[in-house]
Amino acid sequence: MIQPTRVKALNSRPMARGAYVLCWMQASVRGEYNHALEYAIQEANDLRQPVVAYFGLTEDFPEANARHYHFLVEGLREARSALERRGITLVIRKELPPGGAMELARDASLVVVDRGYLPIQKDWREQVAQAVECPVIQVESDVVVPIEEASPKEEYSAATLRPKIHRRLDDYLRPLEESEPAVDSLGLEFESLDIADVSQVLSALDIDQTVRRVPGLTGGTAEAKRRLEEFISNKLDHYNELRNDPTKDYLSGLSPYLHFGQISPLYMALQVMALDSPGKEAYLEELIIRRELSMNFVHYNARFRSLEGLPEWCRKTLMEHESDPREYLYGLEEFESADTHDPYWNAAQKEMVLTGKMHGYMRMYWGKKILEWSESPSEAMRIALCLNNKYELDGRDPNGFTGVAWCLGKHDRPWGERTVFGKIRYMSANGLRRKFDADGYVRKVESLVGASQDSGP
Ligand code: FAD
Repeated sequence: MIQPTRVKALNSRPMARGAYVLCWMQASVRGEYNHALEYAIQEANDLRQPVVAYFGLTEDFPEANARHYHFLVEGLREARSALERRGITLVIRKELPPGGAMELARDASLVVVDRGYLPIQKDWREQVAQAVECPVIQVESDVVVPIEEASPKEEYSAATLRPKIHRRLDDYLRPLEESEPAVDSLGLEFESLDIADVSQVLSALDIDQTVRRVPGLTGGTAEAKRRLEEFISNKLDHYNELRNDPTKDYLSGLSPYLHFGQISPLYMALQVMALDSPGKEAYLEELIIRRELSMNFVHYNARFRSLEGLPEWCRKTLMEHESDPREYLYGLEEFESADTHDPYWNAAQKEMVLTGKMHGYMRMYWGKKILEWSESPSEAMRIALCLNNKYELDGRDPNGFTGVAWCLGKHDRPWGERTVFGKIRYMSANGLRRKFDADGYVRKVESLVGASQDSGP
């Protein structure tokens, strides 16, 4: 059953006399464990109509580049096959998503769409809901507990959100039952993009091609599930003790798959819940509480990209220290080319540029140091978001905006006052060395850099 709290009508149009149910699949790009897709199938079966799925491949998504698109299109190609196996055709058009949705909605009885929390995603859905003649129903498929259900307001921290989510978990940690479409749509004719050759699709897109794909990293649900299984078998037991050690690889690496909607967080949580592992609680805390706290932040706070989105105490303390002298001062170019005095920071930046994924612990240090070495907190935020969103495969996500804001005090508490940071929590190179073999981390990244140079462009 799909909980009614996952479902929201975005307009109040009556059901149209259409030929199919349109499942506008823009955020949850997968053929399984997808509440929006299941809802569309159930509605279509009630109407004895087929489901037609649609994805709009825009060249204009802010800050996206070839690295992101490659991963996205690989996942899309797999989703198309998965949907076809269920008798559903996936129409892919190279255009702004709302345009294609509006056009396909002309022959639809209703439109079912998944949910996104960033302003551009909300705006796209709103445009379609206003323009079309049929109902537009949004189904929340990429969180365990629907955002408004968890809390009706912006939460102060994980400590305030955690009990609210925990109270609802029994209702939402439920397997999603799948039903098969009664009528298939494979015989319907639509103009649609051929994405069989991903490189060819990429080369035809007018996007930033300078940030290239991450070699050896494949997008898609099958690969996400394989990685989850491997994580559960080999790493979960040690997640609690080793997740903050960047010299070791004890994270799940699933954030890009979550970001592109290629795996369901509910599916992941259920797999982990079923186990008796010492790492279970810590992992579910990150996957559910921390991740959904990020969605809570960007959903309820429209100023999440700027200092204005921070709590009053953060802004006050940062402003009081804005003109403190900086021991080191760098601009975007020096940061981007990993050209600082700090080998640990440089290694983290190189890891991100090369692999599309900086280790989680280093992300905190990386962001804190950008604050310390930039001319102002607002410039630090701008630089951190620019680099994060350009190079991280999981960038441009609520987690990224929240992670950067956390470095400036969001969801945290005041600490002892010091230069530049004021009362914002500080991190030092000595702290890294105390926690793990920081020089070993530098060597590890340097060997990755060396190997990538050896293997050529
Ligand atoms: P795992 O440790 O295996 O965790 C599993 C999942 O839990 C992750 O995939 C993620 O969805 C969630 N999670 C883990 N840690 C956090 C956290 N601190 N906050 C919210 N959710 C979390 N995450 C992104 O997805 N995209 C970003 O662009 C991003 N940028 C960040 C920038 C900064 C400055 C900071 C401090 C954090 C950022 N994070 C971001 C959060 C976190 O570092 C990553 O989610 C995590 O490292 C992803 O790796 P993983 O999937 O192997 O994590």
